[in-house]
Amino acid sequence: MTRQITSVIGGKNAPEGSPYSSTNPARPSEVVATVPLADAATFARACRTAAAAQKEWARVPAPVRGRVIASIGRLVEANTESLARLVTEEIGKPYAEALGEVREIVDTCDFFLGEGRRLYGQTVPSEMPDKNLFTFRVPVGVAAVITAGNFPVAVPSWYLVPALLCGNAVVWKPAEYAAASAHALYRLFAAAGLPDGVLNIVFADGARTYEGLDQALSEGTVHKVGFTGSSAVGRSVGELCGRHLQSACLELGGKNPMVVMPDADLDLAVEGALFSGFGTAGQRCTSLGTVIVHRDVHDEFVRRYVQAVQAAKIGDPNGDVLYGPLLDHKFAERYEEYLTWVQPHHTVLPGPTGRMDGEGLYYHPVVVDGVRPDDRIFLEETFGPIVGVTAFDSLDEAIELANRPGYGLSSSIYTTDPKAAFRFRAGVSAGMVSVNNSTSGAEAHLPFGGNGKSGNGSRQSGVWVLDQFTRWQAMNWDYSGKLQKAQMDVADITPDLAFRL
Ligand code: NAD
Repeated sequence: MTRQITSVIGGKNAPEGSPYSSTNPARPSEVVATVPLADAATFARACRTAAAAQKEWARVPAPVRGRVIASIGRLVEANTESLARLVTEEIGKPYAEALGEVREIVDTCDFFLGEGRRLYGQTVPSEMPDKNLFTFRVPVGVAAVITAGNFPVAVPSWYLVPALLCGNAVVWKPAEYAAASAHALYRLFAAAGLPDGVLNIVFADGARTYEGLDQALSEGTVHKVGFTGSSAVGRSVGELCGRHLQSACLELGGKNPMVVMPDADLDLAVEGALFSGFGTAGQRCTSLGTVIVHRDVHDEFVRRYVQAVQAAKIGDPNGDVLYGPLLDHKFAERYEEYLTWVQPHHTVLPGPTGRMDGEGLYYHPVVVDGVRPDDRIFLEETFGPIVGVTAFDSLDEAIELANRPGYGLSSSIYTTDPKAAFRFRAGVSAGMVSVNNSTSGAEAHLPFGGNGKSGNGSRQSGVWVLDQFTRWQAMNWDYSGKLQKAQMDVADITPDLAFRL
């Protein structure tokens, strides 16, 4: 069934734009939705609309906004199956994983509905008498949120839910190839009773989005940018925000390492490497990039890993499969380019590479053994079903290898030695560290985010994301009836510093 959808600004459809079709990657001839892609002026108009609506929204008491978040959670939960089916249809994510993705939105709402009754500020002691100090969390204003489509509903909810709860208005620009899933999520948010203009959805391509964002930042109608996507685009969005003295929350790509120590439970490590390397066809930001395995267990690990990969089911994402098709043609083309990075010194396992026979964008799983630290496959994100393997001799060397690509999103170590686990945690540059668990699998109340090429240190989820969507305001209230000057009119208690026992 082809859906016809449009951007929605101020509660009204905005049907202008150039036509785009979002297709089913399992059957690319099937159009899931048609959508007009907006121009830059439309994006900027949405930001002006949001700025006008935000003032009233910020006046709604935070506990009442929390009730709206509660309603969003209930609506999403009640529509779980239809939203998950749509995600599977539009981006080919296996249905079981799509259900998990929808669950994550509900978890996020569950966490933030209560935050409406907290959003704590502080009372702080003053250095002078008869004076009180306070801090308040103030909404930033309008958040422009630009997202990738590999998690077309869960990852956007990590922005939308806390941003709205904190009293901001939002302009959301989802990935084109996940337009129908995004539009469905928008409708669930709107059904919860958000006033018109508080949440707006704009479908646009990257170039128009950049131009529209530049215009909106110049007009002063955007006060925070949330960007989830590739490191290359994140860099230019970050530069743009910097030029306008606005901060961006950048959640970017990953080259996530998994270290397998000689004392590791190898079967457990293989299970983790299978799920994080090939789940969602290797198209998660937290997907496993390179297994860094101790030389003593390298051969045995590779033997068991390849066996597990060979046994894995790949196919119709509505069935019980490890992975389905790649997200979209764009990703299939890019993935074919990554395959050209394989070099003669590599050993490619288990056998065939490239696209499988048939219409769908299905690709063979590839394990590349013998990867060296200067190889492109080692250094760059390879979004797709390909995992590199390299050997190490000491933990220090493993940590150096884990950090070498310069990303820093997720990481993992398999070991039964607590010392190794804690040394790895302290040495690895990643924002997230798993011990005896794969590189994938975020929980809605733990900070999520990366460093280096994976992001600018911002964190989503849990209480940590509140610092993205509020700014601290400090207030001092002097009731002494006179001007008391900080640092100058402060009582001095004289110690006897010459005192000795
Ligand atoms: P992308 O950077 O091409 O696109 C992301 C979004 O930005 C899309 O909505 C796109 O239309 C928009 N965009 C593209 N060019 C733009 C520009 N010049 N200005 C403004 N917006 C622009 O990313 P993608 O290929 O769609 O997604 C995959 C990437 O996203 C991978 O690198 C993956 O690791 C990353 N990702 C990161 C996280 C995270 O939380 N760290 C989560 C999911 C995906």
